[in-house]
Amino acid sequence: MRRDLFEEEHLLFQETVREFMTREVVPHHDRWEKDGIVPREVWKKAGEIGVFGFGVPEEHGGAGIKDFRYNVVITEEVMRIGATGLGFSLHNDVMAPYFVDLTDEDQKARWLPGFASGELITAVAMTEPGAGSDLQGIRTTARREGDHYVLNGQKTFITNGINSDLVVVVAKTDPEAGARGVSLLVVERGMEGFGRGRNLDKIGMHAQDTAELFFDDVRVPVANLLGGQEGQGFFQLMANLPQERLSIAVMAIASAETVLAQTIEYCRSRTAFGRSIGSFQNTRFVLAELDTEVEIARHYVDRCVVALNAGELSAVDAAKAKWWTTELQNKVIDRCLQLHGGYGYMMDYPVAKAWIDSRVQTIYGGTTEIMKEIIGRSFGF
Ligand SMILES: Cc1cc2nc3c(=O)[nH]c(=O)nc-3n(C[C@H](O)[C@H](O)[C@H](O)COP(=O)(O)OP(=O)(O)OC[C@H]3O[C@@H](n4cnc5c(N)ncnc54)[C@H](O)[C@@H]3O)c2cc1C
Repeated sequence: MRRDLFEEEHLLFQETVREFMTREVVPHHDRWEKDGIVPREVWKKAGEIGVFGFGVPEEHGGAGIKDFRYNVVITEEVMRIGATGLGFSLHNDVMAPYFVDLTDEDQKARWLPGFASGELITAVAMTEPGAGSDLQGIRTTARREGDHYVLNGQKTFITNGINSDLVVVVAKTDPEAGARGVSLLVVERGMEGFGRGRNLDKIGMHAQDTAELFFDDVRVPVANLLGGQEGQGFFQLMANLPQERLSIAVMAIASAETVLAQTIEYCRSRTAFGRSIGSFQNTRFVLAELDTEVEIARHYVDRCVVALNAGELSAVDAAKAKWWTTELQNKVIDRCLQLHGGYGYMMDYPVAKAWIDSRVQTIYGGTTEIMKEIIGRSFGF
């Protein structure tokens, strides 16, 4: 079916991003996988062609356009080449609303130009060793002392954990107040007492820096509180999570489509028993099923993007998109790997890398189980 999400300006931007990826990312990504990190220079180069900060107001160096379809273009081009080391979608899709919508004029002037140029890389630190799905169980605290907060605690699994310059840290400013006692503080690179742990050794996404962060009596100025009011952090997170989940769904579909297309080509050229493996009914049925499911999911996700742009994407809509598409992505890639036979287990074939890289998709941003909880709660039982 015809896809009608993009207009001409998105397609033009798609060409620019594709050309950038071919030139600046494809030749280097294998090395970054070995290094365990993407160099900061590629962020700056991406900033130069306008990849960051579409929603950043023009006076702060952005394009001043709030249209998530541009974010979709970028994510799709990243996934098309399997460049899972680039933490661009975390910066653009997840963090932009915090930095654009929850900042005062002074904060905007300090952070947005660097956000848009790729010179200030962002991260969000919610998860702790003892609390992931159960966000209210976090133990990091920020105690007010005059015009500072004194921050103490530990975070883990933080995307862009090593490269980040600005980390939105979720902390309890009033440990007795439950959801009303959580605030979001921006911790900046170099603040005394802010330490980074290991670049974690993951089963996939080897070029992505995922790290532990430590806060030991970090004095964070009150001027770095997001949203201007203490105790709003939990609600600010809840408001932004649908966009994060949609972003993951966009990644999932783009990845599934890419691997499916690669597998159809493989099945055309690989022969067994004197015929192409695509001529076996089983192969055609498997591919037919996957193609059907991916296309149907694609249209739901595109519809979610339109709803997000209109300010109508609900937490339940986004939860459906997130769990369904990421489970589908894992299924598609697993079935495609099977169709590759032994070659599918070899890292020379993109399907192998996609298989290990995609496994986390049903976990971060809220697990499949938590997504089903959100949907289930909407029935009001
Ligand atoms: C590569 C990677 C990148 C990440 N990036 C970030 C980041 O940038 N920032 C950040 O803050 N976090 C990040 N995370 C953390 C991620 O969001 C959490 O791992 C995730 O939310 C799950 O939390 P957990 O690991 O503590 O698992 P747990 O919450 O301990 O869950 C364990 C299992 O129990 C299930 N479970 C838990 N509660 C329920 C329930 N109520 N009902 C049914 N089942 C339940 C879960 O679904 C899961 O299967 C990242 C994680 C990874 C692996």
